[in-house]
Amino acid sequence: MATEPATTRRGELPPELDDPLFRQAIGQFDGALPNAGIDPFVAEVLRYPERALSVSIPVRLDDGSLGIYPGYRVQHSSVLGPTKGGIRYDKAVTLGECAALAMWMTWKCALLRLPYGGAKGGVRCNPRNLSLGERERLTRRFTAELLPIIGPQRDIPAPDMATDEQTMAWMMDTYSMQVGHAVPEIVTGKPLSVGGSILRPEATGIGVVMVVEEAVRRLGTSLESSSCVVQGYGKVGAVAAHELAVRGARVVGVSDIAGGVHDERGLDLKALDQWRDEHEGIAGFPGSQDVSNAELLELPCDVLVLAATENQVTGANAANLQTKLVAEGANGPTSLEGDEILGERGIPVLPDILTNAGGVAVSYFEWVQDIQRLFWGPDEIRSRLADLMGDALSRVWDLSQSEGLPFRRAALVTSIREVAEALEARGIHP
Ligand code: GLU
Repeated sequence: MATEPATTRRGELPPELDDPLFRQAIGQFDGALPNAGIDPFVAEVLRYPERALSVSIPVRLDDGSLGIYPGYRVQHSSVLGPTKGGIRYDKAVTLGECAALAMWMTWKCALLRLPYGGAKGGVRCNPRNLSLGERERLTRRFTAELLPIIGPQRDIPAPDMATDEQTMAWMMDTYSMQVGHAVPEIVTGKPLSVGGSILRPEATGIGVVMVVEEAVRRLGTSLESSSCVVQGYGKVGAVAAHELAVRGARVVGVSDIAGGVHDERGLDLKALDQWRDEHEGIAGFPGSQDVSNAELLELPCDVLVLAATENQVTGANAANLQTKLVAEGANGPTSLEGDEILGERGIPVLPDILTNAGGVAVSYFEWVQDIQRLFWGPDEIRSRLADLMGDALSRVWDLSQSEGLPFRRAALVTSIREVAEALEARGIHP
């Protein structure tokens, strides 16, 4: 009688993880392995998430009906410490998407030398259709379902797409109610009043600009002489756009979910913010031209910051980009084909696992402060963030130069080697 193989054969994806974003993460990983030079057995362990939890979340909706929402939490690797990563509320959330994002969190944390592995979770829902009360009930029930696998020393959630400080406060409260005392270190990205950290809300956007500024300097120019386009004028992109402008760059185009605005002379971002608040979006901003998100990506510029969502630069549009440098503020915004085309065209890409790592860096600071019950001031946090980002960029840059690798490949190789070394030292239990 033929027997089924007990394990997934080498290189095969388990069907439950067969998702375009997980294939993208695995494609990048496989591409980096020949350069990483790690033990093939260790590589095989790192290909798959350690643990995944799938839940169905019943929520009493405002109209009296019941909604059931699928939720996931995937922990990719706990080799370096507790797992860390955001929770997103989005229509496209799947198990495979969370697995890809969890793997990227592992590489991101290892690249910054944070004592964490990677995780990611989410709920498949349309967050725009949920009232505040519905969001709260969804968040509390999801947190309750996650109780067996999260904890300050096990897995520490944080904000991601469509989740915020309030979401984290509800998660912290739900967890704390279970254990009987306040546990601020269970999540990061909380409001300051319950143990959040100064600079956490702005950290991802500021980190993006720290990396871009140093990269531009190393490429022989400066932000003062650069024009920038930012896709995604939200939690990451709006902060990055302002920070770019503060450091002297000309921000010539930005977009939100509904479309973008373009002004070759440079947008007045303060006036744009006021317009956005009054008109519930940036479209129609006086003095600028409206552009679609697709057109925005193809505007001529020196730096294109991708701060919206995954899969934005692809085989379909990478040949049309007119930028000199791409910086990934979002996770996974460039597809494998997009990456290849940009590589052939000689357009460098500052990869997500480096460029947007400022968020998890300050999350780490928040967790450390919560555990110590001792809080730091803004200067200390900003300078520690600058040190971490600068050090990671340096290591990626040096490896890219010495081994002739694109930045993404160099970043992945650096991270994979860090995790593989720890895994080899620890060994496989039992
Ligand atoms: N969701 C953010 C990310 O993708 C932050 C994660 C965290 O702070 O733990 O990096």
